[in-house]
Amino acid sequence: MVLAHPHMDELNVDLRGARDADFLAIGLGATNLMSALFALASGRRVVGVEMRGDPFLGVHWNIRENVYHQFGLIDEMMLWTYGEAGVPRSPVNNKPFRLADKFFSTHTVSGEVTADEIIDGYDNALHLVGTIQHIEFIDDRYRNGIPNRVVTNVAPPPLPTHPDWRKIRTNTKAVLDGPSTYQAEARSILLLMQRYLEAIEQMDLEAGRETPRVRLFTHHRVAPGDQGFIRLPDGRIRIQIETLQEFDYQGRFLRVRLPGSPIIDLGVPKLFVIAEGYHSTDAERLGFQQHDVAVDHGDGRGSVVAQADFVAVDMMLRIDGRLRRRISSTFGPDGCEYWLRQIAVGHENAPEIAWVLVQVPDYKVFDPVAEGMLPEGTESNSPEFVAAYRHILYDFFLEQAAGILELSVHELRHVTVLYGPKLFSLVERVGDDPRIAVNGVIAGDSFGNGHFLTSGGAMTGMCGHATRVLEYWQTLSRGVQPEEAIVRLAAGIKADTDAWLAVSAPEFSEAVPSNFGAERGEKVIAASGIDPAVRAKLLEANRRERHSLIPLDPSDWRRLVFRNGRIRTMPLPEISPLHPDLRVPPDSGADLGGNAIPLQRTGEVAVRVTEQDGAPLA
Ligand SMILES: Cc1cc2nc3c(=O)[nH]c(=O)nc-3n(C[C@H](O)[C@H](O)[C@H](O)COP(=O)(O)OP(=O)(O)OC[C@H]3O[C@@H](n4cnc5c(N)ncnc54)[C@H](O)[C@@H]3O)c2cc1C
Repeated sequence: MVLAHPHMDELNVDLRGARDADFLAIGLGATNLMSALFALASGRRVVGVEMRGDPFLGVHWNIRENVYHQFGLIDEMMLWTYGEAGVPRSPVNNKPFRLADKFFSTHTVSGEVTADEIIDGYDNALHLVGTIQHIEFIDDRYRNGIPNRVVTNVAPPPLPTHPDWRKIRTNTKAVLDGPSTYQAEARSILLLMQRYLEAIEQMDLEAGRETPRVRLFTHHRVAPGDQGFIRLPDGRIRIQIETLQEFDYQGRFLRVRLPGSPIIDLGVPKLFVIAEGYHSTDAERLGFQQHDVAVDHGDGRGSVVAQADFVAVDMMLRIDGRLRRRISSTFGPDGCEYWLRQIAVGHENAPEIAWVLVQVPDYKVFDPVAEGMLPEGTESNSPEFVAAYRHILYDFFLEQAAGILELSVHELRHVTVLYGPKLFSLVERVGDDPRIAVNGVIAGDSFGNGHFLTSGGAMTGMCGHATRVLEYWQTLSRGVQPEEAIVRLAAGIKADTDAWLAVSAPEFSEAVPSNFGAERGEKVIAASGIDPAVRAKLLEANRRERHSLIPLDPSDWRRLVFRNGRIRTMPLPEISPLHPDLRVPPDSGADLGGNAIPLQRTGEVAVRVTEQDGAPLA
């Protein structure tokens, strides 16, 4: 007799191909989706486990050219490995599903995208990414106590016309030292990869294959307690998962096992990779530990913890295909100068995409009582306190955003906000060894993370760690023993993350933006006369006044924090040659730079603007 059950659909899971996969990806984000595609294209059987359903990450990524060529390689490998009949086709027009063409093509254009429409083949006019056409650096740091502005424009990288696997760099330092070529919503790129895997899974299930090439469990996680990871006597790990029911409970997403659902045994994979983003509870369960990264900035203070605080906002404002960075001076209560960084990221032909992130000075606390807005003793969880806190935070953001966007605070206040302001703390953390079992490693941000201003996290996972997974399968195919292959894989993951950390270190203390690429960074130094030996003043993490901040909560990307207003479709104004602090009357009280003490506004002012450099860098 069949018993009726409220979740019969979810419980009647077809488990063909779920056990003993070649590759088991735990956490389907940037790293593991690309790794899974490489494993699949290498003729390996893939199982994926993800707890949040479809991709959701709302940030806008700057993307290196490598990713395009990698997609091209996967398209080619799929044809070599499975032939035309083994490659998915568009459900709308039956054309072959080619990852590289959906990502970027000279036959399609950039714009405001609905990723699934492009991926399905319904929208054949657009590709997923925008190209970067403007790379700008504004150096607004004071010189000798005087406001000073230097603007440097560097040429955008030339666009590849077609994917070419020979241009793939497997050295992560070389990838990160190259400039970003594209911009795209992280979610769109993640969706592209996940939909491809889903298409293969569907093809194989419909064809009645006993062992489909791909199986995805996207509302699942490794079962808790002793049931999830079971260590075998030979050191390999067997993995069991549970089906999740997710619900919003008092403002937080909670997940519990779907009532009545059984544990699903995934058996013993040849290789499993845990890449669950920053802070992986599964990695922790397996004994993996991370430690804070300490960086010696060569300023005589020895090593300090690499940490910085930022406010992130997604607003509806036209930035175009632009990557703009700014560094400015601010002065703390101690009278010392601190440097603040801001970044603005847009999207070609999409006037409503503007990601603006601004750094918070180490000494700044958004405390309404300390700022005199509320009386002593106001409860920090009272509505008045929270309202005043949000007000101060947003005002701070607007001042800083005005500095990089060259718009007034007043104008910005009327622009629609889709996300934020969200205060988050960037703390670099890394493990010692990615290897956690005879058959498993930790990768992506779960192994270690650098500074997001390098635009390097997804690149490290997708171009670094994922190509190591490809090499792992190639190594096995050459007859190398699994033990040696996984040792090489783990060493490769560590080397990639170390490269990201090395590129990140200067972002805490030096002025040159690393996500322009090394060569363009040199140009910025040459044009602006920045002395690379001069360092920012940093406070030791344990001396900072605000240490209770947490990194961004991934679930936040699934909520829209909305301030309604206008979509600003006019282009950004030309960057003024004048420093913001020289544009306002000294007694007006307004201060676009967000400085905490009155500023000196007299004396010689050095303002230089370099010419737009039209010549492409090699
Ligand atoms: C504001 C901001 C801007 C950024 N800009 C850039 C940029 O321009 N370029 C760039 O390269 N990088 C950028 N990054 C960094 C990039 O987003 C991350 O480094 C990258 O997403 C990390 O990839 P990952 O695979 O390690 O993890 P994620 O992409 O975070 O994926 C982890 C996945 O694991 C899932 N998961 C978590 N726990 C579990 C569990 N227990 N069971 C099952 N699944 C689980 C999550 O739901 C998620 O889908 C930026 C980051 C931020 C915050």
